[in-house]
Amino acid sequence: MEGSRPPEFEVAIDKAIAAPEAFGASFDEAPSRSELELGAGLDGDPALAFRRTLGMFATGVTVLTARVAEQVHGMTANAFMSVSLSPPLVLVSIDRRAKMGALMHEGTRFGVSVLEAHQTDLSDRFAGRVADDVPEPTFEIVHETPLVAGALAHLVARVVRSYWGGDHSLFLGQVEFAHYGEGRPLLFHGGRYERLVDDPRVFSMLPRELLDPIMALGSERSYEDGAAVMSVGEPGDELMLVLEGTVRVRRPGRDMTVGVGELIGEIEVLDPGGGRIADITAEGSVRCLAVSRDSLLAALEADPRAAIALIEVLAERFRETA
Ligand code: FAD
Repeated sequence: MEGSRPPEFEVAIDKAIAAPEAFGASFDEAPSRSELELGAGLDGDPALAFRRTLGMFATGVTVLTARVAEQVHGMTANAFMSVSLSPPLVLVSIDRRAKMGALMHEGTRFGVSVLEAHQTDLSDRFAGRVADDVPEPTFEIVHETPLVAGALAHLVARVVRSYWGGDHSLFLGQVEFAHYGEGRPLLFHGGRYERLVDDPRVFSMLPRELLDPIMALGSERSYEDGAAVMSVGEPGDELMLVLEGTVRVRRPGRDMTVGVGELIGEIEVLDPGGGRIADITAEGSVRCLAVSRDSLLAALEADPRAAIALIEVLAERFRETA
């Protein structure tokens, strides 16, 4: 079928919505085959190298759902993207061998459930990797369309166009319903599931009876509005507890305010050679309690329970990201 669309994707393109002229006449044509050149260091099976290259693009994970008579069919998909805000459009790409594709006709509705960080079992189930001990999924029905219960976000869309996409089919859906809740997404990268790591906290996770003796070794500092409390690159040789006011923490991709009772610099103090990773400035007048790395180590030596509790916190972190 090189160079032409399979007949099932013959879609009547209304002139009014056909591709703008600048896009060229090839908009609805299948491209001809071309050789794939692999960059330096990539050899072996080109298809595998291509797949791995695409796998470097991190995505969320969705379950696409459709209703078949009174039954629900679901399929895990990460090839989902937003297309347009007005009209609201999304696009999904479905393997031509998948059952799901056969259910996606123009005019039919499908659901998109954006999975939450802990829904890897559901992702595996709807990808056909079923484990015996996985509970049956439950669905909510919205606009007569099933959506996976407990997902982070839900969309219901109606297929308005379908396109030839090589060994996949592309379905453009006009969105009729959208909803999202609180939570963190499940991610997929390099062929495996990933999660966003929460703001790094280590000492903050210690129980008060172990943290208080450490903080008792600190000395007070005052800062005026706008003063630098910590700066990127400087050695992380102390951590601080905010006693009064708030500080602004800025690092690439993050900009947050930290207030009374919260710690700053708690990661770098465990790895002082790595340098500070954020710029922290005072918002208004601020008072902090600073504990040097030396005092910290002395406190941990004096009470090994605190050292063990820290190791447990770090182990928990590794488990979260494994
Ligand atoms: P099947 O393989 O028959 O069904 C899928 C699974 O879902 C089966 O185990 C089935 O038992 C279960 N299931 C279906 N409905 C229900 C229900 N109502 N209750 C309980 N279980 C049910 N493929 C793509 O084409 N595009 C993608 O973007 C894509 N992204 C993926 C991303 C990830 C992270 C993963 C792991 C896989 C992805 N896949 C993708 C692969 C795709 O999920 C699988 O090939 C899937 O098996 C195809 O589903 P199917 O429609 O052929 O149906």
